[in-house]
Amino acid sequence: MENIIKVKNLTFEYTSDEHTHRAIDDFNLNINEGEFVAIIGHNGSGKSTLSKNLNAILIPTQGDIVIDGMNTKEEKYLWDIRQTAGMVFQNPDNQIVATIVEEDVAFGCENLGVEPLEIRERVDSALKNVGMYELRERPPHLLSGGQKQRVAIAGIIAMRPKCIIFDEATAMLDPSGRQEVMNTIKRLNKEYNITVLMITHFMEEAVEADRVIVMEKGKKILEGKPREVFSHIDELKKIGLDVPYMTELSQLLNKDGIKIRTDILTVDEMVGELCQLK
Ligand code: ADP
Ligand code: MG
Repeated sequence: MENIIKVKNLTFEYTSDEHTHRAIDDFNLNINEGEFVAIIGHNGSGKSTLSKNLNAILIPTQGDIVIDGMNTKEEKYLWDIRQTAGMVFQNPDNQIVATIVEEDVAFGCENLGVEPLEIRERVDSALKNVGMYELRERPPHLLSGGQKQRVAIAGIIAMRPKCIIFDEATAMLDPSGRQEVMNTIKRLNKEYNITVLMITHFMEEAVEADRVIVMEKGKKILEGKPREVFSHIDELKKIGLDVPYMTELSQLLNKDGIKIRTDILTVDEMVGELCQLK
């Protein structure tokens, strides 16, 4: 199967008059259609620079990015790339452009030149997908952070992307808003096979992914299934990252002589393990 996202030896440098700053350093990544990949890494590790390269907001200094067969260096593909790989950013307020929810969701499709009747259909279905159909006539400023972010996601899915990149899209939300958005993302991935690349600093979100990638100083330093990656507790802590609470707790309990697995990721798994103790 063809990879929907291919990053080949990507190096990206920001240049100003005085100096050059290498934000991504020879980075490689392939993502299959339908995959759910999480990227973690602390501030300044290059995550946003990577996501902007994937969306042709930035163009590689060296190397190539190919989105569904389209190289981001070829200008003629710009809009197709942005329609194939939609982006959801951190601050919902910067992404909402209209004064009514459904008009906001229609905006991207209008720019793509989709027929009005088709837009109506897509907007309604996208709003239903994110659970915002009932609030379609509201002004966005009356919504909660989580609801606004779901409207932003609806605007992207109305454009029928194969892939959505979330750049810390839950960072400004309260825990319940985060849960709403996370549930929406998981559903889009599982039910509609939309490829998800999720940049996050919440480990509880990363454990939901099929694959986790850890970035540090523009490089990939760890990659694997969540259970594999999060078993490297010391390494993650050394670079200033958290580990999932339950993984840490499972290791602490073990040190205290409570013999349970040490690679537990979720509360459910923890409960399961503790219930088996004699
Ligand atoms: P992250 O999203 O992981 O926090 P970024 O991709 O935003 O990391 O930043 C990676 C590095 O590039 C950081 O050292 C940051 O200071 C630098 N950087 C980001 N944006 C710019 C820019 N517009 N000009 C110069 N340097 C930048
Ligand atoms: Mg960032």
